[in-house]
Amino acid sequence: MSEKWYKEGLRFHCTGCGKCCTGSPGYVWVSDSEVKEISQFLQISFEECIKKYTRKVVGRLSLLEDYLSYDCVFLKDKNCQIYSTRPKQCRKFPWWLENLKTKKDWEEEAIRCEGINHVDAPLISFGEIEKQVDS
Ligand code: SF4
Ligand code: SF4
Repeated sequence: MSEKWYKEGLRFHCTGCGKCCTGSPGYVWVSDSEVKEISQFLQISFEECIKKYTRKVVGRLSLLEDYLSYDCVFLKDKNCQIYSTRPKQCRKFPWWLENLKTKKDWEEEAIRCEGINHVDAPLISFGEIEKQVDS
C-alpha cells in the first residue's frame, strides 16, 4: 500500500470561529442514537427533537439549517449549543476522508477552516489522524 501524503502529520487547532457550522448548504447526518443523546441533553423527547431540529433527506436524518444563512440549527453566537453531544460528523472534522484524499483537498479545506495549518496549531501525528478517521 502506498504511503499517505500526510505521514509526517498535519497542523490543526480549532479557533472556535464557527465557520464550519454555517456558510454553505450541507448535511449534518445524525443517527437515531445521536438524536437520542441530543434529546436527553436538551431534556426533550426523541420525537420533539426529530421534529424541531432535523429533516429527512433520502431516508436519512440531517440537522436543519437556516435557509438563508445556512447556519446549523444549533449554532448560536458562533457557538454550538449542543457541543458536548454534537454528532460524530462534527466531532471528526476536519479529519474527513474527503479532506485527506490529497494535499490539494486539505489546502482547499484550509480556505474554509482557519484552524487548518493555523500558525499556532500543534502538529497532529499520523497515528492520531488515522485514529480520528477510523473513529
Ligand atoms: S471552521 Fe475550523 S477553526 Fe473554525 S470552528 Fe470550524 S473547525 Fe474550528
Ligand atoms: S451540531 Fe454544533 S458543531 Fe455540528 S454543525 Fe451544528 S453547530 Fe456546528
